[in-house]
Amino acid sequence: MIVVMQQHCNDVAIEHVMTYLNDHGLSGHLSQGIERTVIGVLGAVGPSGTRTTAGGINPEIQDALEGLPCVEQVVIVSKPYKLASREFHPENTIVNIPTPCVSEGTVHIGDTSVVMMAGPCTVESEKQLLTTAEAVRKEGAVILRGGAFKPSTSPYGFRGMGEAGLKLLAKARREFGMSIITEVMTPTDVEMVCEYADILQIGTRNMQNYMLLDEIGRTDKPVVLKRGMSATIEEWLLAAEYILSQGNPNVILCERGIRTFEKMTRNTMDISAIPVIKRVSHLPIISDPSQGTGHRHLVSAMSLASIAAGADGLLVEVHPNPDEALKDGAQSLTLDQFKGLMPQLLAVSHAVGRTVVSD
Ligand code: PEP
Ligand code: MN
Repeated sequence: MIVVMQQHCNDVAIEHVMTYLNDHGLSGHLSQGIERTVIGVLGAVGPSGTRTTAGGINPEIQDALEGLPCVEQVVIVSKPYKLASREFHPENTIVNIPTPCVSEGTVHIGDTSVVMMAGPCTVESEKQLLTTAEAVRKEGAVILRGGAFKPSTSPYGFRGMGEAGLKLLAKARREFGMSIITEVMTPTDVEMVCEYADILQIGTRNMQNYMLLDEIGRTDKPVVLKRGMSATIEEWLLAAEYILSQGNPNVILCERGIRTFEKMTRNTMDISAIPVIKRVSHLPIISDPSQGTGHRHLVSAMSLASIAAGADGLLVEVHPNPDEALKDGAQSLTLDQFKGLMPQLLAVSHAVGRTVVSD
């Protein structure tokens, strides 16, 4: 249920609605857009973290809310995800990332610009990271990716450098002014990773790690939520809802390919998810064509297709020597390939009325 307020409602009226909701065991989530102010209504969180009125809201409460001052109407949100829905928040959400290398000092994800996030799959060494950062920054990337905590399908695979990797990312940030995106895998690491990262990444394998989603929801750190490899779009939006409902509005979705019967690609890039998300949700969406295809010769094509389909940015793996990468070398672009992609990205972005953030 959402409470739509009259256009020029004042803070007292908003407070009135909030108090009414609290008094009735419900919680209100305020969204003040340019066009309208709405309050999303959720069941209150009980002592054990459970929602007390998950099943629905009493019609008497709906009537009473409609009678409060400055309430225009009360709308039942038909979708299971509420705060993530466009019904709740008609305008696009823009997530702001502090990024020293751009003149404004902030990158906006979800506006008319396209944002390139690039870097190695995994932080392997200072030289590997700094060489990659310098090269991708030179071509216009503004956000540096690199995993320090790596989910690995095999327990014998490289699991990342841990905090030492985060320290290298911080060094790259200081040297090149790029903001940092890196994965966090467990609730207990959230606080530490937040000290280094500008954007937290939730990997595909953790999309339904609800304790992790809750913990990140209690911060205000921007977060890229990857689509679970077997998740429907609705399940993905419900995972986003976990984060939003804890109070963190800075959620960016990331399509990274799903499992299908196809074997010629590592995953199947669901490009159609991009316009679907844009239609049903206000959250920004980026695309990861590296995990999405598994082959570096497919990454440029899927990058361009994603932007043409409406993605707000890309997350691309780049390595100075992919054949020697400890992880995901087959899908990592060489520095030269990355250089070749950027002018194409610019051309496609312009063709669909977008700019590319680079400085
Ligand atoms: C990655 O970005 O390197 C990664 C592990 O992504 P995903 O969780 O999408 O597999
Ligand atoms: Mn990877």
